[in-house]
Order: sequence, then C-alpha cells, then structure tokens
Amino acid sequence: MKFALRKYLPSSDSERQSQRLRIYRLLRKFLIGFIVVSLLNGIFSIYFDTPKMSSIRRRNEQIERQYRILDDKILAAERILEDIKHRDNYVYRPLLGIDTLDIDGIYRDYPDSKYAQLGGDRYSPLMIDTWKRLDRLTRRMYLASVSLDATQDLAENKELFSTVIPALWPIDRTKLKYVSDLYGWRMHPKYHVWKFHEGIDLAAPAGTPVYATGNGIVSESKTANGYGKIISINHGFGYTSRYAHLSKQFVVQGDSVTRGQVIGEVGSTGVGTGPHLHYEVRYMGSTVNPINYFNKDMSPEAYIDLVQQLNEKTVEQL
Ligand SMILES: [Zn+2]
Repeated sequence: MKFALRKYLPSSDSERQSQRLRIYRLLRKFLIGFIVVSLLNGIFSIYFDTPKMSSIRRRNEQIERQYRILDDKILAAERILEDIKHRDNYVYRPLLGIDTLDIDGIYRDYPDSKYAQLGGDRYSPLMIDTWKRLDRLTRRMYLASVSLDATQDLAENKELFSTVIPALWPIDRTKLKYVSDLYGWRMHPKYHVWKFHEGIDLAAPAGTPVYATGNGIVSESKTANGYGKIISINHGFGYTSRYAHLSKQFVVQGDSVTRGQVIGEVGSTGVGTGPHLHYEVRYMGSTVNPINYFNKDMSPEAYIDLVQQLNEKTVEQL
C-alpha cells in the first residue's frame, strides 16, 4: 500500500524541484511575452494609428477643412457687403444729398466671454475666429440694411424731397448788395461780443421780395426779439428755413408755400445795422451753413466762386 501511493507523488525532492522550475520558466516566458507584446504595441501605436484613432483624425481633418471653406465664404460675403456699403456711401447718399454713414464706426465686437465655451482645444482659435467673423458680418449686414432702408425711403420720395429741400437764393441775386455776414462765429456788429451767427446775412434794398426756398408749411410768421419780423417754413424731412428782419410778411402760420413764392420783403426790423435778410437753414433742429443749399440753381463753378469770395471776406470789410 505504501508503494502504490508513492507512484502518484513526486518520486523525490529533486523531481519536485524540477517541476517547480518548469512552472517558473513557463510563467517567465508568459511575462516576457506580455512585456514584449505591450512594448511592440506601444511602439506601433506611436507610428501607426489604430482604426478608431485614424477615423477620429479623419473626422477632425474634415471639420477643419469645412471651417476653412466657411471662412472663404465669409470672406466672399464680406466683399459683397463692402461693395454695398461703398455704393450706399458714395453713390446713393451723395445722389440724395444725405451724409455718409460709417458702419464701422457704429459696430462694436461682442465681448470675448461670448466665445468662452468654444475654447479649450487645438481647434478653438479657428472656431472662435470663424464665429467672430460671422457675428461681425451679421451685425454689419444689419446696419447696412438699416442704412439702405433710409436711403430707399428718401429715394421713393426723391421727387417730393427735391421740391421741399431749401435750395434757392431767398432773394434775387441781382438785388444783393453784398453778403454782410457769414454763417459761423463772428463779432456781433451791435453787441461787440463773439456770437455764433446761425444764418447768412444778405444785404439788399428794403422792399426786395423774399422767396420761400422750398415747398413747405409756414410754421411761424411773427415778430421776435432781435429778429424782428420773422417767417419760418417747415419743409419736412427734418428741414426748416427762417427769414428774419423782414419789413413785410405775406403769409401766416399754417399757409402752405411753394418754392419761389414771395413770402415777404427785406427790411431792418429787429436788431440790425441796415436792411438785410437773415436767412437760416436748420436740419433736425440744428442750424447748417445755408450756403451749402444755394447750389441747386448754380453751376458748380459759380458755387465754388461764391464760396471762395465769401471765405475771403473778413469781418472788418463788412
Ligand atoms: Zn443774421
């Protein structure tokens, strides 16, 4: 019985040792194999993508390409907007006689915080830049459309606009003795202090007819301190014209007048140095230089001549 059992047990100590050694060797082989495979995998993945990684990389490249295409499209749209803006400022507005509008001066970028959520990876600068340009384009397009709306409004009423805008000499130029005072700062002839002269003074004999310079409604026909007998005409579109120091008024408040209609006569009522017409043009409540509104019935040369002639005149010569 003792011998039968021995058959199934390691025969001796040395046999047991060699069996243990075999197991160790086997384990060592596995371990080395594992390490080698891991190392190879590591090296491989540095130089070659796994299928998943290469698909991600391909998608990223595609997104990047699409952003570049979008950028090109934004650039093309920006050029079109630039062209519209140019035509608005240099063709339509001068044609209608309105000031140019500086869209770039009005536009302000959104704060950077608006784009914060786009940050954080290697594509963010590209994305943020694209978003900013899109926002800028959208807002500038909106401003351009507002500007064009205003221009269109005027263009539709151009016929009306051209009849109401003050664009005539308020007196017959052959009756004009001289332009006694210009628009702007001057030493007041009576008070001897510097005052802003809000109109232009046209010296002419008393009784010279005074014309309405554009169609409109008489908004006042009264006697005012300093200005004497005065008439104001509201032309619409933000324009008003005023005629002061008159000797006679032929219209009353509420009358509608047409360009060239005689509304009064030159005089010297109110504070003044002699018979002259004080003529003012206001736009949106503020005075403007009336001389810029005399060019309607003048050739460009005659206009330039007049401006030069007036600019050479000094207060002392008056
Ligand atoms: Zn005056």
